[in-house]
Amino acid sequence: MKAVVYKEPFKVAVEDVPDPRIEHPNDVIVKITTTAICGSDLHMYEGRTGAEPGIVFGHENMGIVEETGPGVTSIHRGDRVVLPFNVACGFCKNCLAGKTGFCLTVNEGFAGGAYGYVSMGPFIGGQAQYLRVPYADFNCLKLPPGDEHEDDFALLADIFPTGYHATELAQVSPGETVCVYGAGPVGLMAAYSALLRGASRVFSVDRQPDRLRVAHEIGAIPIDYSKGDAVEQIKEQTDGEGTDKGIDAVGYQATVPEGEEQPAMVLNSLVESVRPTGMLGIVGLYVPADPGGPSDSAKKGELLFKIGRFFEKGLRAGTGQANVKAYNRQLRDMIIAGRANPSFVVSHRLPLAEAPEAYEHFDKRDNGWTKVLLKPQM
Ligand code: NAD
Ligand code: ZN
Repeated sequence: MKAVVYKEPFKVAVEDVPDPRIEHPNDVIVKITTTAICGSDLHMYEGRTGAEPGIVFGHENMGIVEETGPGVTSIHRGDRVVLPFNVACGFCKNCLAGKTGFCLTVNEGFAGGAYGYVSMGPFIGGQAQYLRVPYADFNCLKLPPGDEHEDDFALLADIFPTGYHATELAQVSPGETVCVYGAGPVGLMAAYSALLRGASRVFSVDRQPDRLRVAHEIGAIPIDYSKGDAVEQIKEQTDGEGTDKGIDAVGYQATVPEGEEQPAMVLNSLVESVRPTGMLGIVGLYVPADPGGPSDSAKKGELLFKIGRFFEKGLRAGTGQANVKAYNRQLRDMIIAGRANPSFVVSHRLPLAEAPEAYEHFDKRDNGWTKVLLKPQM
């Protein structure tokens, strides 16, 4: 089959790789209809991780079940399904508690599994024609048949639940004010989720005019940090107090206005942007210090986080991978009921063959390249 394969920093190619096959009675094989490129793929694409050349990318996948293992009971050939990016067993302590982003079974020694992601287990990615799904009864979310809402449902694999998770970590409640750093796909989903939960005002911080425009269109208040300090701008609009809650949807690749990376910038800005005793939801990715990894990734695990100010203000924070299964059913049903339309974030729908160019544009954050969906059957 054809798949998107990592070659070297800033280079992927569409190549022939072996077809996946049923390896365990609980597996299914899914024929991929939609798979998305994620900001998380860019950490590997830009060579910041220890990802080996040859790895197939793709953790945001949906499609039609093609083949089922003999132990699978609730999923059948022909079912339309979306796959949470977390690969999870469903029976370990964390899965039983709904913390499927931290499954203790699938990836020994490192909590949590994912398709096509370095250090998150042996699972091959879905930017391909087919995908093997382990523990399929647990890891498939069934969708209505047909092709309605295809692009909305595709976002249930990661960014819609991840944006929602950020608001859950920050416990966003009706009437509250929220600042969201980053208006990339994840930040836009977090702002959208905060509004769905009844936030009164949501400030969306970025410097990309096209992304800030989308934020404005969904009802958030755009804050351009290249035009002046974001903290000052947020405080000016909240009587000098700051917002009730804050979200990091950028991560360690945060840039200062001139363009240099400054890993702890968003965390420290959040501490200043949120009122004393507020809460932070941190879903932007922070890589652990990796002594064996590329030198700058080793450095970036250690950040100059201003813990003193965090303590002084009595803030609380939640972090980590989204537990997609905790939210995807409810968010799916909101899409079906017409109460949520997350695909406003999608800018491009392309055949798999165009993945290399799409990665280049999305990585450079070229004007208008907000979220790319690949369609392997196109
Ligand atoms: P993205 O890179 O497209 O978006 C990041 C945005 O942040 C960009 O628009 C960029 O202009 C903006 N930005 C950079 N520096 C900034 C700063 N100092 N202040 C404000 N904005 C700034 O990526 P994405 O797909 O939206 O993902 C965002 C982050 O979320 C990534 O780190 C990704 O790995 C992570 N992520 C986490 C999970 C999870 O489960 N926790 C899931 C998916 C993605
Ligand atoms: Zn993703």
